[in-house]
Amino acid sequence: MTILVTGGAGYIGSHTCVELLNAGYDVIVVDNYYNSVPEVLNRVEKITGKSLKRYECDIRDRQGLEKIFGENDVDAVIHFAGLKAVGESSQLPLLYYENNISGSVTLFEVMEKYNCKKIVFSSSATVYGNNPIPYKETMTTGDVSNPYGRTKHFIEQILGDVYKADNEWSISLLRYFNPIGAHESGLIGEDPNGIPNNLMPYIARVAIGRLPQLTVFGGDYDTKDGTCIRDYIHVVDLAKAHLCAVAKILEGTGIDAYNIGNGVGYSVLDIVHAFEKASGKKLNYVIGDRRAGDLPAFYADATKANKELGWKAELGIDKMCEDTWNFQTKNPEGIK
Ligand code: NAD
Ligand code: UDP
Repeated sequence: MTILVTGGAGYIGSHTCVELLNAGYDVIVVDNYYNSVPEVLNRVEKITGKSLKRYECDIRDRQGLEKIFGENDVDAVIHFAGLKAVGESSQLPLLYYENNISGSVTLFEVMEKYNCKKIVFSSSATVYGNNPIPYKETMTTGDVSNPYGRTKHFIEQILGDVYKADNEWSISLLRYFNPIGAHESGLIGEDPNGIPNNLMPYIARVAIGRLPQLTVFGGDYDTKDGTCIRDYIHVVDLAKAHLCAVAKILEGTGIDAYNIGNGVGYSVLDIVHAFEKASGKKLNYVIGDRRAGDLPAFYADATKANKELGWKAELGIDKMCEDTWNFQTKNPEGIK
């Protein structure tokens, strides 16, 4: 079975490639390396002892995609490629709509042309907006406060329409909660360009001395310690969820959304303290203002993924922090 992975050199994509190769799939990566480097794929091959096929190609490049689908017999696609910085998406909405939505539509058109109608799409818990917690797949989605989140909601809707028009499609929408952690080998992990926006890579860079101090965004929320609550999930658990979703889409047709989270909420300070324990370092942090657009608390009800995909998160926050620290210490300047 051959799986084409868009954005396969990125953070979640690379961990998923490892799991796919280990499970015996043939893997084709399509990435334009906008937010990654080819070396990541060498490391995926090193971890697994297996090789993958790679194409440097933008998913907006129809001819490029047609060449790839023409040269290979693709059984299913896992679609990670996209831009993901929430703050940047408010400054550059057209870039986000063009890259994420136009890119996705081009990909789906080429898939249809080559009669490949099976796809797992990287969606996000952000589509739930201001719903009560825990979030459930049955809730109304789309009350989203930023263009990035809207691209996820729109692409879910587009895939819904695609399925309505042609029931031969088999589609899995995975709504990720907060992925953190790294592969146990320390060879691959999260390596954002510039100053990280997300909590865990920011903490790791403070701990290694590349950034002076963490600002905790808000200490006056109505939560147990005043800081925001999120559902953190180890990236390897998340990668394994893709294997379960691929198995499901290969076996039939339909469209389904699944929450991929631990089902447990941790505060920002819980993560800070777990990281201190894992790294043996005292973290320099201050409590600052709230960040615009942050919800006080959300976490998943992940029972649907457990029942229908046979998937469950297994790794806790101590392991998430240990693996992040292992990756950071082995790659203090990131992956070149
Ligand atoms: P990432 O930036 O590490 O990986 C995305 C990959 O896609 C990168 O390698 C990038 O170079 C590539 N890419 C971007 N635009 C492309 C294009 N037009 N053509 C070809 N390649 C392109 O991000 P990630 O954290 O691995 O996230 C993967 C997916 O999961 C994204 O769609 C993201 O929105 C979604 N997601 C991520 C999170 C998170 O917290 N990391 C949470 C929810 C959803
Ligand atoms: N956060 C923080 N300081 C930072 C980055 C993030 O306090 O430098 C908090 C943020 O307010 C949120 C949590 O950490 O409550 C997770 O934020 P992240 O950006 O990683 O993910 P989000 O849940 O916003 O997608």
